[in-house]
Amino acid sequence: MAAPTPLAPVLSAHWDARRSWTLASYEQHGGYEGLRRALALDPSEVLTTVKDSGLRGRGGAGFPTGMKWSFLPAPDGGPRYLVVNADESEPGTCKDIPTMLASPQSLVEGSIITSYAIGCRHAFIYVRGEVLHVIRRLQRAVEEAYAAGYLGEDILGSGYSLDITVHAGAGAYICGEETALLDSLEGLRGQPRLKPPFPAVAGLYARPTVVNNVETIASVPGILRGGSAWFRSMGTEKSAGHGLFSLSGHVTRPGQYEAPLGITLRQLLDLAGGVRAGHELKFWTPGGSSTPIFTAEHLDTPLDYESVGAAGSMLGTRALQIFDETTSVVRCVTRWTEFYAHESCGKCTPCREGTFWLKQVLRRLEAGQGTPQDIDLLLDTCDNILGRAFCALGDGATSPITSAIKYFREEFEAGMHTPASVLFPPERSSLF
Ligand code: NAD
Repeated sequence: MAAPTPLAPVLSAHWDARRSWTLASYEQHGGYEGLRRALALDPSEVLTTVKDSGLRGRGGAGFPTGMKWSFLPAPDGGPRYLVVNADESEPGTCKDIPTMLASPQSLVEGSIITSYAIGCRHAFIYVRGEVLHVIRRLQRAVEEAYAAGYLGEDILGSGYSLDITVHAGAGAYICGEETALLDSLEGLRGQPRLKPPFPAVAGLYARPTVVNNVETIASVPGILRGGSAWFRSMGTEKSAGHGLFSLSGHVTRPGQYEAPLGITLRQLLDLAGGVRAGHELKFWTPGGSSTPIFTAEHLDTPLDYESVGAAGSMLGTRALQIFDETTSVVRCVTRWTEFYAHESCGKCTPCREGTFWLKQVLRRLEAGQGTPQDIDLLLDTCDNILGRAFCALGDGATSPITSAIKYFREEFEAGMHTPASVLFPPERSSLF
C-alpha cells in the first residue's frame, strides 16, 4: 500500500468503510502489511524504525515511544509485557474508543508489532469496564486475528508467538494512571505506585513492561508501512506525525479530526464549521480538563507539544472542548473539580483533601456565597497540591482552576456574595 500523503487521514482513513471493524475490511485496506514488514526485520530494527519516526506517546504526556521501548533491560529469559492503556477517561477525551470501535484491528496489529519489537509473548489490552460494546468488539477482533494466524503460535510462519488478553477494568479514572492500571490488572485495588522504578524496569508482576496508549500503538502499523521518514514528514520537528483531535462542546460539527500535529484550533474550527452559529469562542481546553485552559487569543497556537507548552498549557490528549460566551467559567471549573474530587483514589493527602476543599470553595462561589478570601484560598490550595500529589491526578485538578482565575478572575470575584440568580440566569446555562 502506498504511503498516505501528509494531510490524508491515516488512523481514521477507513473508518467509514463498510464493516470497517472486521478483519476482511482491514486487510482490504492494507491491514497487516505493517506486521509482514516487521516480521521480515530483526526486532531491534523495528524498534529503531519507531524511534526514528519521532512518535511520541498519544496518551497525554508525549513521552518518546521508541525511547520508552528501549528502556527495557536486556532479556533475562523471564517474561516481559506490553500493556495497552485503553482506559480513556480524561474529561473531553474521546479518541481511543472511536478507534477501537471503527478499527480494532489497527490496535491488534500495532500490539503484535510492538510485542515483537520488545520481545513480549503475552500482551494485555486494559479497557474501561463500562464500555462493554468496545470490549466485545476488541474480543472479536482478537479472535479473528487468532483464526487468521496473526496471533498464537508461529505467527505467519515467523517462529514468533504471541497471546493477547483483553481485560475489562471496573471504571475508575485513576486506573488510567499506568501504575494504578498495573495494580488493577494484577487484581489489586487500583492505586498509583511510587516511580521510579518505572514500568519499563518493574511493571506487571514486577517484570519489564511497556505501557502505551491505544492511539500510540494503533499508529505503529502505519509507521512500518510508510517508514519513519514518511511519519516525520508530518507534524513539526519535535512533534512528528498525525494525531486525532477531538472537538466537542459549542462547535458546529463536533467529532474526530485527524491532522498533523502543529495544526491550529482556527484551522480545525474551519473544518468543523466553526463555533455554533451566532456565538463566539470564550475558552477551550487543548488537551482535556487536566490542561490549563486557553482563550480566543490562542486560536493560532500550533497544537504541538512545544508550542502549547510555551503558551502555558499542555497538548495532553488533544481533547478540544469548546465553550462559547454563554458558559460560566466558574460553573464549568466547578464541575471538573467535582469530577477530580470524586475520582481521587485517596492514597495521598494533598489530592484527597485538596480536591475536596477546592470543590467546597468553588461550590460556594458558584452559588454567589463566596468570601473575599476565596480566590486566594483556591490558589493556595492548588499550590499545596501541585508537585506534592502522588501522581498526575492532583496536578491535573489544579490546572483548570489556576488558569481560569488567570483569564477570568472577575467571574470568580463576582461569585463573592453575588446571588446565584444574577450570576447564572437560566439563559446562561446552556452547557452545564
Ligand atoms: P509521565 O510524564 O510521568 O510519564 C509518561 C510516560 O513516560 C510513562 O509511561 C512513564 O513510565 C514514562 N517515563 C517517564 N520518565 C521515564 C523514565 N525516566 N524512565 C522510563 N520511563 C519513563 O506522565 P503520566 O503520569 O504517565 O501521564 C500524565 C499525562 O496523562 C497527562 O499529561 C495527561 O494529559 C494524561 N492523561 C490522559 C488521560 C486519558 O484518558 N488518556 C487521563 C488522564 C491523564
